[in-house]
Amino acid sequence: MTDVKLALDEVHALVVDTLMRCGCDEENAAAVARVITAAERDGCHSHGLMRLAGYAATLKSGKVNGKARPRVEQIAPAVVRVDGDGGFAPLALETGRQPLVDCARKNGIAALALVDIYHFAALWTEIEPLAEAGLCALACTSYKPAVIPAGGKKALYGTNPIAFGWPRKSGNPVVFDQATSVVARGEVMLAAREGHQMAEGVGVDADGNPTTDPNAILEGSLLAFGGHKGSSLAMMVELLAGGLIGESFSFEAARRDNNDGGPPQGGEFILAMDPGMFGDAEGWLDHSELLFEQIAAQEGTRLPGDRRHANRERNTRDGISLSQAVYDKILEL
Ligand code: NDP
Repeated sequence: MTDVKLALDEVHALVVDTLMRCGCDEENAAAVARVITAAERDGCHSHGLMRLAGYAATLKSGKVNGKARPRVEQIAPAVVRVDGDGGFAPLALETGRQPLVDCARKNGIAALALVDIYHFAALWTEIEPLAEAGLCALACTSYKPAVIPAGGKKALYGTNPIAFGWPRKSGNPVVFDQATSVVARGEVMLAAREGHQMAEGVGVDADGNPTTDPNAILEGSLLAFGGHKGSSLAMMVELLAGGLIGESFSFEAARRDNNDGGPPQGGEFILAMDPGMFGDAEGWLDHSELLFEQIAAQEGTRLPGDRRHANRERNTRDGISLSQAVYDKILEL
């Protein structure tokens, strides 16, 4: 089957149109469209148009408020809270971004607590604008149970991604964004569809026994990356994006979820720091460039984000290719 070619503004328009037909107002639809278009632009297809069916399902089931009006509140000198009004995360994030930036510049450090949102996106889209604004930033969010705690047998943690960004003297900031599971669940789904085995150490079956069969892993659980170390990071994400800000843990979110194919209701935690206010106001930018130079000096290395930025340059110019099957599914929505 041939692919469909789309320019990025066509991707944006397709998402807005689809979501508005499913019950979003324009403001919410456009905010989600910016995130999906950015994912397609940077070659992160697992969080691009492929997700549109899930967004639409949550609107059709009535779980997500497509006309959400996020409310921002300064609840402590360095804490900004946004109540997402039961909507998709992107508009809540856009609402909280400038207050977070202002608060971090004033105090040196500030946190954004996002509650009552539905998060279905990659985190780098949220971290990059903060790093472009000259801030060091960290974000994390939880999901539904998909990962066992180290030594256990039953999924408890979400795939719980963590993203981190650092400003550069010139050019794109350095941003990494990674799940705390060995691989994303989407990769296991892909392996099941294509009929190939997963590597050892990726997941367990429903009884908690190690397996390389992707179907058995989908019925069972993933493992955290790096054994007990990744497991602790997944726990940390639960505590920051749930316990700290008064939102759900993954297991609580799953209990309430209607399993319509979209994300569960939950929260997100973002920390922003102004490196110019930590004691090396004049030198921090040049100093950190020394580290990046040392990394680049070793053959075989690259900085996280380099792949995305190479894709960005090409796809902004040439547009993106989408499989006819995914395109047809979107038109059906
Ligand atoms: P990957 O393992 O593909 O990549 C993780 C990070 O490592 C990226 O920043 C990537 O940069 C970087 N990287 C990859 N290879 C190298 C290398 N050789 N040298 C240096 N850096 C490298 O990501 P995951 O599969 O773990 O996560 C995928 C996405 O899923 C994330 O965007 C995450 O936010 C999202 N997610 C969202 C969830 C949600 O609930 N909303 C849940 C779980 C995941 P680059 O991009 O340039 O390759």
